[in-house]
Amino acid sequence: MPSRRTLLKAAALLPAGPALALRPDAGVTAYAFPLTAVRLGAGRFAENTARTHAYLRFLDADRLLHMFRVTAGRPSSATPCGGWESPSTELRGHSIGHVLTALAQAYASTGEAAFKTKGDYLVAELALCQRPNGFLSAYPESFIDRLEAGQQVWAPYYTLHKIVAGLLDMHQLTGSALARTVLERKAAWVQARNSLLSYAQRQQMLRVEFGGIGETLFNLYQLSENPAHLTTAQYFDHAQVLDPLAAGVDALAGFHANTQIPKALAAIRGYHATGDTRYRDIAVTFWNLVVKQHSYAIGGNSNGEYFQAPNRIASELSDTTCECCNSYNMLKLTRQLFLTDPARGAEFMDFYEKALVNHLLGAQNPASAHGFHCYYVPLRAGGLKTYSNDYDNFTCCHGTGMETNTKFTDSIWFTSGNTLYLNLFIPATLTWPGRGITVTQATGFPETATSRLTITGTGQIDLRVRIPSWTTGAQVRVNGVLTGSPVPGSYLAINRTWASGDTVDISLPMALSLEPTPDNPAVRAVRHGPVVLAGQFGTTNLSALPNLDPAALQPTGVPLEYTAGSVLLRPFYQTHGQRYSVYWNVAGTFAAHYPFDEASGSTALDATGNGRDAALAGGATRTTGRSGGAVQLTGSGAYVNLPAGLLAGATSFTIAAWVRLDTAATWPRLFDLGAGTGTYLFLTPRSSAGTPRYAITTGGAGAEQRIDGPAALPTGVWTHVAVTHTGNLGVLYVNGAEVARNSALTIRPSVLGATTQNWIGRSQYAGDPYLAAAVDGFRIYSRALSAAEVSQLNSTGQ
Ligand SMILES: [Zn+2]
Repeated sequence: MPSRRTLLKAAALLPAGPALALRPDAGVTAYAFPLTAVRLGAGRFAENTARTHAYLRFLDADRLLHMFRVTAGRPSSATPCGGWESPSTELRGHSIGHVLTALAQAYASTGEAAFKTKGDYLVAELALCQRPNGFLSAYPESFIDRLEAGQQVWAPYYTLHKIVAGLLDMHQLTGSALARTVLERKAAWVQARNSLLSYAQRQQMLRVEFGGIGETLFNLYQLSENPAHLTTAQYFDHAQVLDPLAAGVDALAGFHANTQIPKALAAIRGYHATGDTRYRDIAVTFWNLVVKQHSYAIGGNSNGEYFQAPNRIASELSDTTCECCNSYNMLKLTRQLFLTDPARGAEFMDFYEKALVNHLLGAQNPASAHGFHCYYVPLRAGGLKTYSNDYDNFTCCHGTGMETNTKFTDSIWFTSGNTLYLNLFIPATLTWPGRGITVTQATGFPETATSRLTITGTGQIDLRVRIPSWTTGAQVRVNGVLTGSPVPGSYLAINRTWASGDTVDISLPMALSLEPTPDNPAVRAVRHGPVVLAGQFGTTNLSALPNLDPAALQPTGVPLEYTAGSVLLRPFYQTHGQRYSVYWNVAGTFAAHYPFDEASGSTALDATGNGRDAALAGGATRTTGRSGGAVQLTGSGAYVNLPAGLLAGATSFTIAAWVRLDTAATWPRLFDLGAGTGTYLFLTPRSSAGTPRYAITTGGAGAEQRIDGPAALPTGVWTHVAVTHTGNLGVLYVNGAEVARNSALTIRPSVLGATTQNWIGRSQYAGDPYLAAAVDGFRIYSRALSAAEVSQLNSTGQ
């Protein structure tokens, strides 16, 4: 442990924060306050932080150092750590970097000397383990040989990144000069090692996860002005991932998610270091794609750690969704994008709040005094959060959890000149460096929908209060007087000279909403304002999404709590120790989607995850589709058998599909759902009139109510066809555009009952021909899609 002299020296060093940077960040127009300037107030965030602080005090530094010492040939009698830090795990050593960052953040946020003391001890001991060439790791340098030779090895630069990031934070947040020395020697080793490789060799190497080492090296360059650090950072520009992003293309599917997010983070810091707008555009494009096309209702992303095809959410619910590191890194990226483009800040911070409150705040176990943390956050129905432990886990998410829970104050406030942005409704006090002004935010958000700012000191501030997109009827009062016209999804500006005792009361009414998934509008998450609510299912596992009747949702009187029948819904961030469901099948709804993308077999999987699989029958085969595969129907006995009861209870529906007709036969069926020739609804591509027809009846052919299209469907080309039916209105669409409607359909789909003869390509009438066509992207919805939504189906081609 450190001597008393070291302690005294440490106490004399005030955290210096970003003031140490020599190079100004290019392209930045807003600035963070140092952690030393913001103190967290009592509440849920502070409770999380207190648990992580307790863990940081508890952790045995010598156990963390054990494998560094062993690898360096130094004595160690400490008990080895387990989990990902075990002596045989190739990722060993990464946790010490997380711990250094967390200790540095804890010290800067509280001034508690014990955090710096422990951090300084770790740095001093790591310095003793550093090789003369600068290499420093808990694994031998031969791992890097294996990496460069293309041999199997588990992410060695990922581990090194965590260590250099921790050293940098110890330097910047606690003023440790030794941390800077160790870091610069290590950076020199990275440069020396990689400068010996060709560009092609490095690009090959970058296919293995390397974390945020590029980001840390750009950060170091901003501090050091040493061009070698810039060169070294750019060795980690991974063209395979960055080039499609620079072209604005979503090529993320199939890539390991948390391997890629730090590359975008490095890119935005590369922009700040160089001014090269290509870096900025890569980062912005990545953020847009991940947030809008790859994120769940809680703000997390990834299933089984990988990005999936865009807009697949309901069909990607499992026990391995939403790795916590991903959101930790997305928040870091979002914060950098805010600094870069505060004009878009309200949008960035809506996402920040969503992922922070719904994913990360609830990823720490409140029953653990040491803040044990989730790795994945399961989003399958019946999921259960599981957590890390003191010494036998040490996953990446255990590590980033320590970091997240020691820096909640870093994105509440930002500044630009006299402008002060209030972004997050978290209780905290800002002491504005150099201005003699403090701003205290008191709030119980999100359990309460209000926040009060109290100003101490005097001066002009152009205050910008974030008005979240989810609120309606927001009100802001200055000293009790209504001020301005708050617009959701923007900032309310209050520019005035403030005096001690001035108050700002912010009221942000929240409403209940059901957020549909993009791939199945019937599958929805329940939100109250920004807070995702989860059904609480105790020890009951679930094999399918639970049903929810929105009309049954009743508030319990406890903030953010509802019941739906016998099920209690509470904030997901408060959901621990029991099984839950975030997503629901909304009552009276049903849906199915058959992409026909299976390679073989007779099953056509329901891609919605609702389990309504269909079966190829009568010699139906597979062919190339409009997107992926399709089912090929021959016109002579082949059809697809859809599940019984598919439209049972339907008051509204949409059926849509791609079809490529082989022949212009009369009376085949694209689909026909019924119970024989008396009761059915169908769509034929060609009635006796020569044009498509939708018909519904409960009294046979003579009682059909119909929509007749105006023109024949072509043969030999993919054509998108859709029918919507709600109330008395049915609309027929061809290629995304309405072609006919009937507003006098008095027969409701529900009166057909639970039909059992539900087919693609086959008629209830035995004399009608089977369909000769390829069919793809067959979708059923429990509501009438809008014209825009049908058009969207047509334009996406799926
Ligand atoms: Zn992780």
